[in-house]
Amino acid sequence: MVKITGFTTRDVRFPTSLDKTGSDAMNAAGDYSAAYCIINTDSPHAGHGMTFTIGRGNEIVCSAISLLTPLVVGKELDDLTADWGKTWRYLVSDSQLRWIGPEKGVIHLALGAVVNALWDLWAKTLGKPVWRIVADMSPEEFVRCIDFRYITDAITPDEAIALLKDVQGGKADRIREAESSQAVPAYTTSAGWLGYSEDKLKSLLDESVALGYKHFKLKVGGNIAEDKRRLAIARQAIGYDKGNILMVDANQVWSVPEAISWMQELAEFKPWFIEEPTSPDDILGHAAIKKALANTAHGTVGVATGEMCQNRVIFKQLLQAGALTVLQPDACRVGGVNEVLAILLLARKFGVPIVPHSGGVGLPEYTQHLSTIDYVVVSGKKSVLEYVDHLHEHFVHPSSVKDGYYVTPMEPGYSVEMKAESMDEFAFPGEEGKSWWRTQEARTILDGARV
Ligand SMILES: [Mg+2]
Repeated sequence: MVKITGFTTRDVRFPTSLDKTGSDAMNAAGDYSAAYCIINTDSPHAGHGMTFTIGRGNEIVCSAISLLTPLVVGKELDDLTADWGKTWRYLVSDSQLRWIGPEKGVIHLALGAVVNALWDLWAKTLGKPVWRIVADMSPEEFVRCIDFRYITDAITPDEAIALLKDVQGGKADRIREAESSQAVPAYTTSAGWLGYSEDKLKSLLDESVALGYKHFKLKVGGNIAEDKRRLAIARQAIGYDKGNILMVDANQVWSVPEAISWMQELAEFKPWFIEEPTSPDDILGHAAIKKALANTAHGTVGVATGEMCQNRVIFKQLLQAGALTVLQPDACRVGGVNEVLAILLLARKFGVPIVPHSGGVGLPEYTQHLSTIDYVVVSGKKSVLEYVDHLHEHFVHPSSVKDGYYVTPMEPGYSVEMKAESMDEFAFPGEEGKSWWRTQEARTILDGARV
């Protein structure tokens, strides 16, 4: 038996705004950050979970983690995992904390860190990676992980069990594929950040092509003439007839009519989809954009969103409205593994592929498990997963890509345990003499303009 004895939170921030890594039309200068939840036990194991933010406000998420984690302190891990759906419901049912959500915003980001830390702890005690725990579950056990409240009009537990049973046939083969790192094809955004120069864009794209990538994503939405120039450079590098796929991402900068007219202009570059064309809360807006872009002068441009969708209820409605070509859940924002499992089932029910959001520190470490679960257990179909090639050196078991595929994680846990020395070096506000944030160099960010 493993008993939870306490917890620690850590506020860790990497100064990525210095070189514009992560920059897009909405987020000009993010400092990739992690609000950490470390769950301590009376065993040698500790559970590590984190939520991704882009800097300021990370301390608010850490505070929310400190408010939620006492709900599990003093509990036996086995009791929490025996009926996960019930545990998840318990964790969202502190009515006073629910008031500042419900199941959205900072409190839900914090829940993601706590729930993911519990899964990490559970996986370590079982000696398995998280994806494998789920792969070894029966359809009934999988479904018991989920709180179906608010989604039974779209999918019932019985229907979910039937969908999972339907793909069980090839599961053993798919597990073997996962074990040989052939389950999750990767795509890259590393070249396409908006703040990068055209030269840097070109050389990074050439590099990505040489590495065997087939999918490429560029940020758009700053300036139409520049977007056209950058997409032309991209198409020159990746071609139109080499099986390479281009995707574009506007990070919510447009209103609905603007999204439609802007993308009609960019349709000539034949993107597979426009990601986050407008507010993540605008279900009918996404549906209108998808309808308008179904027949442009240059063919269909699809619609994708999800990285800032609050919860399973929003995803349910996006799917019911026929608003999505691709669904992009975030591993942290929706309250952790359990809610993602619900979203994977919804996506399967509506026949929409999932491409989890991975553009952030720690996210590829998480989403490699989620995409593997989707392929092996839920959809039985390969999709693609974003891979951003930076900051992995700070993790004990970093994610990586080989020959265009994610290398399937085999170590026990959920892969987001960060090296202790990295946590100290980038702790915010951090200790004098230890943290980068206390150095002179950090003043550029700390005293700089807020954008
Ligand atoms: Mg995005």
